[in-house]
Amino acid sequence: MQSITVLGSTGSIGVSTLDVLARHPQRYSVFALTARERLTELAQQCRRFAPRFAVVADEKGARVLREQLAGEVPGIGILWGVEGLCRVASDPQVDAVMAAIVGAAGLRPTLAAVEAGKKVLLANKESLVMAGPVFMQALEKSGAQLLPIDSEHNAIFQCLPQPCADLDRAGVEKILLTGSGGPFRTHPVDELHRVTPDEACAHPNWSMGRKISVDSATMMNKGLEFIEACLLFGARPDQVEVVVHPQSVVHSMVQYRDGSLLAQMGEPDMRTPIAHALAFPERIGSGVAALDLVARGRLDFEAPDARRFPCLRLAREAMDTGGSAPTALNAANEVAVEAFLQGRLAFTSIPAVIERVMKSAEPVELTGLDAVETADRSARALAQRALEELS
Ligand code: NAD
Ligand code: MG
Repeated sequence: MQSITVLGSTGSIGVSTLDVLARHPQRYSVFALTARERLTELAQQCRRFAPRFAVVADEKGARVLREQLAGEVPGIGILWGVEGLCRVASDPQVDAVMAAIVGAAGLRPTLAAVEAGKKVLLANKESLVMAGPVFMQALEKSGAQLLPIDSEHNAIFQCLPQPCADLDRAGVEKILLTGSGGPFRTHPVDELHRVTPDEACAHPNWSMGRKISVDSATMMNKGLEFIEACLLFGARPDQVEVVVHPQSVVHSMVQYRDGSLLAQMGEPDMRTPIAHALAFPERIGSGVAALDLVARGRLDFEAPDARRFPCLRLAREAMDTGGSAPTALNAANEVAVEAFLQGRLAFTSIPAVIERVMKSAEPVELTGLDAVETADRSARALAQRALEELS
């Protein structure tokens, strides 16, 4: 029996995770559930899974949740804030932590799980991108096992020999990171400045939280995933290529020296990578139907359009610059996407805000968590200034 903490349990990944866990009650129990909003849903999850702890944002949230539960989950502890999140991510009773908080807010709890040597299922790519070397050093030091939930990285992981310490020694030439191109792959480029948040969040293949949906529409999601792939697999930037694949059936590929190209395929449903990572190296049911290739009929691939998706170039430049440049990229993106979602910024100004921040943020070496958080804060301040100039 494994005891699982789900950080961000009311989100898209959190709900899919609970769906998989509920299919295997003999195998998994829930130690903690956490959410910042949608507390009614969190209360329902607590009734269903009877976790040892629930964690909310603040004291007021704790009061609301306690009232909602009205004693229905005996013995449950209700915690709040970052301290509560770190506590349930690192508790000695926890075996695995699903890191599914969105954005930089996930950094401290995810790092707490890493430092405590947990099996960490990483959906929260922003925490890895912003903290790069600090995150990887913590992983090395604690010996925690990191399993990628991002469907692309989970696919790459599945296409590599395990364990794989060295891509060159494994005969890997390239990693082909696939991306659907999002809802605006064929939208007229000169009309992109008019698209609305709801249009940006209407992804053709995946149903996801609003922040990552906008990232998919700008393809900054693929930019973040490019950095994620370099870090997770020790790939050189020139070894990772982005390929647009509108059907989202091939989740990514690994090209070997002998001409072999290995792909992992499946229906676009996050329960597959979640089930894979939860049970690794075993396999469990996920509730996802088998892929019917004949019914699908065709799979298409094309090169990304650099003019339509400037965020891809910005992410590569950040990786080339190194140090805190990816931290600034991520922070600027979070600020710009939030402003777009609130109707304060045009879609096409998202990359413009990021570019301004990247030009003015002085890259520094990431020596530790403090350096990461300082770089994150100052990039957010620069992004606020850019927002005022551009909106
Ligand atoms: P979401 O917005 O649906 O859910 C986010 C969860 O985090 C919610 O439970 C929310 O309450 C919680 N949360 C948000 N801000 C918080 C804060 N400041 N403090 C504490 N908790 C907070 O997001 P999602 O789509 O589930 O994505 C979660 C993460 O997984 C993101 O990093 C995303 O990039 C990554 N991811 C998602 C998908 C997907 O299909 N949705 C795929 C790959 C990777
Ligand atoms: Mg992905």
